[in-house]
Amino acid sequence: METIRTVAWMKEHARQARAGNRIVGLVPTMGALHAGHLSLIERAKRECSPVIASIFVNPKQFGANEDFAKYPRAFEIDMQKMEQAGVDSLFAPEESEIYPNGFSTYVNVEGLSERLEGRSRPGHFRGVTTVVMKLLQIVQPNFAYFGRKDAQQARIITHMARDLNLDTEIVVCPLVREPDGLALSSRNAYLSKEERKAALVLYRALEAAKNELTHGVRDAAQLQTSLRRKLESERLATADYAEVVDAERFEPVLKVNKPCYVLLAVFIGKTRLIDNLYVEPKSTGSEELVFHF
Ligand code: AMP
Repeated sequence: METIRTVAWMKEHARQARAGNRIVGLVPTMGALHAGHLSLIERAKRECSPVIASIFVNPKQFGANEDFAKYPRAFEIDMQKMEQAGVDSLFAPEESEIYPNGFSTYVNVEGLSERLEGRSRPGHFRGVTTVVMKLLQIVQPNFAYFGRKDAQQARIITHMARDLNLDTEIVVCPLVREPDGLALSSRNAYLSKEERKAALVLYRALEAAKNELTHGVRDAAQLQTSLRRKLESERLATADYAEVVDAERFEPVLKVNKPCYVLLAVFIGKTRLIDNLYVEPKSTGSEELVFHF
């Protein structure tokens, strides 16, 4: 696996790959890799060659009071994991490569970026879409892989690719969980032993929502009330939001009768975790639901 540090070399390297008529896959990450990231690489390996992965902790997607400085960094271990997973090239630029002096151009997906995560983390998605757009410009991959763990982010990036007529197809991959149900996240490393136990309340709340949906509940307000009640039962948890939204616009729904996300953002102590459940009618107009959990 080759490690590439500069934009100029990454562009040249990707250009050569494309010229060879090969199918280039890109997996953007912020490092501190876990099985969720590796699942994206595995999927990319099945569909592309070469597979390029990136590690860049993007300062522009962190708010002033957020965890940029202490975000987990494990570069050597990440390199080994990527090598083992069969990544062909790792793009790991310095901050000044991505944001040289005088950088002042941003990409913002209006509307979608202002709700939910965007409301709680102003400027977050503008930072995400700007860096993802840059990575897509630099590599110009055929496919780029993102996880459903960050459902709103994946939706925004898909929307950006459509609005800006990008040639890259955005692939959204399943959410990977720990055996006990906790969604894998680099931020889980912040949790104390006691908080790690408490963090399961997100999974349990979603599981309870799934159960209600299975038993015929379709009313979003009712689902939200029971989600909140469940979250409140955990002493270390403080809900930021618990919402049922349509999977297209991420706007609140009254009833679950089309593809929807049940979305959670919850503080466990000082650590903010997100999780979700995707649900859609089995076929158009069908009462039966299919869950992606
Ligand atoms: P991050 O390093 O947190 O920016 O994540 C990089 C990519 O990995 C994003 O597309 C995330 O959605 C994806 N990802 C993170 N956690 C998971 C998970 N538990 N399951 C699936 N994909 C994930």
